[in-house]
Amino acid sequence: MNQNLKIKISDVPRPLRPAVAAKDEVAISGIQKQGDIPRKNERKNDEFCELDEVRGQLEETRSVMEIRINAKTKELRDQAEDLEKQIKERTGELQKKIEESENSRMALMNMLEDMEDLRRRAEEEKEKTLAIITNFTDGLMLFDSVDRLALVNSQMGLFFGVGKEDAKRIIGKKIADFGEVVGFKPLVDLLGGDLTKIARKELFISEKAVFEVSLLEISGQRNKVGVLLIVHDISREKMVERMKTEFVSIAAHQLRTPISAIKWTLRMILDGDLGPITEEQREFLEKTYKSNERMINLINDLLNVTRIEEGRHLYNIVAADMTVLVQSLIVNYADIAKQKNLALDYEGPVEIIPQVKIDVEKMKLVVSNLIENALKYTPAGGKISVSIGQKDDGVLVTVRDTGMGISAEQTDRIFTKYFRASNAVRMETEGTGLGLFIAKNIVETHGGKIWFDSREGKGTVFCFTIPSAEADSILQ
Ligand code: ADP
Repeated sequence: MNQNLKIKISDVPRPLRPAVAAKDEVAISGIQKQGDIPRKNERKNDEFCELDEVRGQLEETRSVMEIRINAKTKELRDQAEDLEKQIKERTGELQKKIEESENSRMALMNMLEDMEDLRRRAEEEKEKTLAIITNFTDGLMLFDSVDRLALVNSQMGLFFGVGKEDAKRIIGKKIADFGEVVGFKPLVDLLGGDLTKIARKELFISEKAVFEVSLLEISGQRNKVGVLLIVHDISREKMVERMKTEFVSIAAHQLRTPISAIKWTLRMILDGDLGPITEEQREFLEKTYKSNERMINLINDLLNVTRIEEGRHLYNIVAADMTVLVQSLIVNYADIAKQKNLALDYEGPVEIIPQVKIDVEKMKLVVSNLIENALKYTPAGGKISVSIGQKDDGVLVTVRDTGMGISAEQTDRIFTKYFRASNAVRMETEGTGLGLFIAKNIVETHGGKIWFDSREGKGTVFCFTIPSAEADSILQ
């Protein structure tokens, strides 16, 4: 800006330049010499005139200059104002941008804080879950979505006698490849190297090491996240169960002898072997005999249950014809059916059915139980039909009645121990609730299946199959 205010010599009109120089010289010398006075006065006048003229021109130049300076100054001031305005605008914009970036920074900081919070919480949750898994009293193995072992807790090692280092060696492997850790072999064998087969199964290693093994699929929102293998120690429960079974078995055995003695003594009295009895005495003794029979049935049922629980209820497996077995039983029940005013039909197979490998006495228990139930739970005037046929490559036995039926809500419990449906209890029929439990166990031990279909108030049909002697079965 200063540069623009300087007056360059080129700005001064050319004719004035020497005069300005002479005036300057006069002004600079300032001292006059004494001997030159007359000429000097003349010259002086001229000089004054000249000077005046110069002054006039200078004045003019000054005003021109002033005008120019003023114009320049205005121009500069305008420019300065413009600049200031621009600076102000830019400063505003910058300020805005700074504010925006400050806001973004704050938002980012908040997000980071939230993320940090989430991460910390996730970490805490992970630690908690890990602590739970590690200190869980059950043995746990966690497999990932492709069935590779992700985690195994120390309890699992304790159950199967596997050290921490050995357990670590199988991390990342599939269950089929656990072979190198011998301790886990019973577990691998039970699962068959597959994590999809079982939901719950018992694993017996020794009397002091009985486990319940369960597989639990862990699902995320859309697909499988992993599988949890849980090993629960049931050795104590099994021991208590064993003791209970032993107690019932001993008690039932002990009761059998005196009850049999009572039965035979009553029979002898009733048959008149010990002398004549009055009609009234007979009536009472008959009732006592029947009660004693019920007691014998109960004891036999209890003994059968204990045998099932001890896993030793099939002794005498032989090849047999189911038709002969069923027919012989039907004959036994003909009288009872007549007494109860029930029709008891038998329908044999339309073609020759295959032989079956069975424990005949146990199989009689199954068929008797189904026929007795049909007789018991069908009111007078009803009908019971027993039939035999072939199903797939096995033998199918069907017992159909037109009795009270079983309500849909109770169907799931029918084969469980001691269960009696509410309508059966209401009717005050006698029963222990053990017959079907025993029947199911016997049929299944023979490799067969038992099921039923029923409509309350209409009737029930119980069916069971036994594989043929030639077919693959657990008994071969
Ligand atoms: P129990 O007959 O000694 O009570 P079961 O185990 O043989 O014991 O039968 C269990 C229950 O199943 C019976 O109490 C009864 O409620 C029901 N049930 C069995 N068979 C029939 C049937 N044919 N009709 C209706 N209910 C039946």
